[in-house]
Amino acid sequence: LNFQQATFLTSAPDIRALPADEGIEVAFAGRSNAGKSSALNTLTRQKSLARTSKTPGRTQLINVFQMNDQQRLIDLPGYGFAKVPLAVKQKWQKALSEYLIKRQSLQGLIVLMDIRHPLKDLDQDLIHWAVESQLPVRILLTKADKLSPGPRKKALLQVSEAALAFMGDVQVQVFSSLSKQGLPELEQALRLWFNP
Ligand code: GDP
Repeated sequence: LNFQQATFLTSAPDIRALPADEGIEVAFAGRSNAGKSSALNTLTRQKSLARTSKTPGRTQLINVFQMNDQQRLIDLPGYGFAKVPLAVKQKWQKALSEYLIKRQSLQGLIVLMDIRHPLKDLDQDLIHWAVESQLPVRILLTKADKLSPGPRKKALLQVSEAALAFMGDVQVQVFSSLSKQGLPELEQALRLWFNP
């Protein structure tokens, strides 16, 4: 499994427009600005596979990247924009929970959170839905380079402890697209999901 081989396959306006539910896929989710695009670019060693810094409130698409016809990375729209109307938020939340429950090819969920602002309400909702769907979750505490080693370790311990409360398979690691800290761990975890 070579993440460098990842290429853009398609953008889907909603879950129904995703490619056929075959093979294996892993989804990436997080609040806007959590560092999701940067993490995908770091993982695939590509400068601009995933677009960084999008316009808030714009119609958001699900981007699909594939390593090959049986292995996909799903870039879910960032959430948490204050400006998005409530009805749009609720519609998206329903679609997202359905995706987590119904998608057979979905093997795991990566949830990205800024290490300085972890476990906001929507992050927690998302993790709850995943756990309810028996889906393993890996939390990436992103932008780890923004903290010095002491506070970084403290944040990891705090979130690891909080993760126990979800009562599911919820792993936690630190990550930095800038320093590449946590990249080997992320790759190892993804390899296990893609090769069960
Ligand atoms: P997205 O909205 O979740 O896709 O977030 P982006 O990947 O676009 O990143 C949001 C902002 O955080 C950008 O200004 C990035 O340069 C910055 N950023 C992302 N990852 C890191 C990181 O590991 N370290 C630092 N210092 N900044 C980062």
